[in-house]
Amino acid sequence: MKELYRQLGIRPEVYAYGEKVLAGLRPRFDAIDATAEYNQAKVLAAFQKNRVDASCFAATTGYGYNDVGREKLEQVYADVFHTEAALVRPQITCGTHALTVALSANLLPGDELLSPVGLPYDTLQEVIGLRPSPCSLAEYGVTYRQVDLKSDGTFDYDAIRAAIGPKTKLITIQRSKGYATRPTFSVEQIGELIAFCKSVKSDVICMVDNCYGEFVEREEPSDVGADMVVGSLIKNPGGGLAPIGGYICGTKTCVDRCAYRLSAPGLGQEVGANLGLMSALFQGFFLAPTVTAGALKGAVFAANLYEPLGFPCVPNAAEDRHDIIQAVELGSREAMVAFCKGIQCAAPVDSYVTPEPWAMPGYDDDVIMAAGAFVQGSSIELSADGPIREPYAIYFQGGLTWYHAKTGILMSLEKMVEAGLAVLPAAL
Ligand SMILES: *Cc1c(COP(=O)(O)O)cnc(C)c1O
Repeated sequence: MKELYRQLGIRPEVYAYGEKVLAGLRPRFDAIDATAEYNQAKVLAAFQKNRVDASCFAATTGYGYNDVGREKLEQVYADVFHTEAALVRPQITCGTHALTVALSANLLPGDELLSPVGLPYDTLQEVIGLRPSPCSLAEYGVTYRQVDLKSDGTFDYDAIRAAIGPKTKLITIQRSKGYATRPTFSVEQIGELIAFCKSVKSDVICMVDNCYGEFVEREEPSDVGADMVVGSLIKNPGGGLAPIGGYICGTKTCVDRCAYRLSAPGLGQEVGANLGLMSALFQGFFLAPTVTAGALKGAVFAANLYEPLGFPCVPNAAEDRHDIIQAVELGSREAMVAFCKGIQCAAPVDSYVTPEPWAMPGYDDDVIMAAGAFVQGSSIELSADGPIREPYAIYFQGGLTWYHAKTGILMSLEKMVEAGLAVLPAAL
């Protein structure tokens, strides 16, 4: 094994350090496997209940009326998320698009949007209009309020109560930390926050940006009161096989409006050909619980590998996980580049290219991204990215298999050691 890893470019000392770290992680990995088993059974039951069969995989084109596969896929999603309805479409181009549809469908001019968990994910800032952009919610007369988290990362309930007013129509809760160094929220915490918001205003719509959180726990935010949960199919629920897409699961009222916004008033969910993508979307969703588990093991491994070397990790090495993202504060641009080089050269696709920081649409700072993915930009596949700004944190996620995640993380450390930016412990 050591020799094989050496051939891949990982020196024996890095491999040995990795094995030492892994030896202590057995109970953590067993718990991850138990969650995967639970979620696998949940997904399987939804497939069987909906009598998924080969007719679901047939391609449709044109308007896509009476698309059996599409309708069953949406029912399967609704059953897994325990919601009345679901909109799962290749026509939803990405997570930002899914969130934009959910927000713009359910907010009208004069309404107010509230984020009680601080600044939303970078790309949503233009959607809301925090950074001016054509067609932002602000341009359509939707106002925005924000309550920051308290300095210890908890919800500021007094400020949230004060911020909910007559205009407050929709509350957006981002589960994952995104490119911030705050904690990711557990489903239980999200449930408490939703219950509090609804106790202040019973008819307020609570939407959860569920990106990277799907199948990490046994429950989803829709099990604890969310009216809509929203995410991307090139993250967890696509299982690495979905080549595109997004989902919105929630109440029939909310999801209907999303469908009218996505296609057109009067058409709604009735149109949208599947273009032959159904088998990938079904099969990806079927694999998603185990793929997510592999990614989760990678995140736990990375934190336990890097933290003892002096790099602060969020979540830290011991903490419970509520998403698949691992932030590692590397402290410099050079270290971010070295880390990403390692992830990139461990990839099955594009292993020979070198990642460089670059200006990306939707992001304020230069961003570095490492990914050698079958689906371009897929971040359920092994990938690392981060904006080049203090504290120079790299956000690491994915891995279609745990073993590939392991290889990539070891390779990132190899590149850091090679560049003199990390020092292995003296005694192995
Ligand atoms: C990835 C992500 C998004 C946006 O998804 P894209 O598919 O990149 O547009 C939104 N919110 C969070 C928390 C995310 O992680």
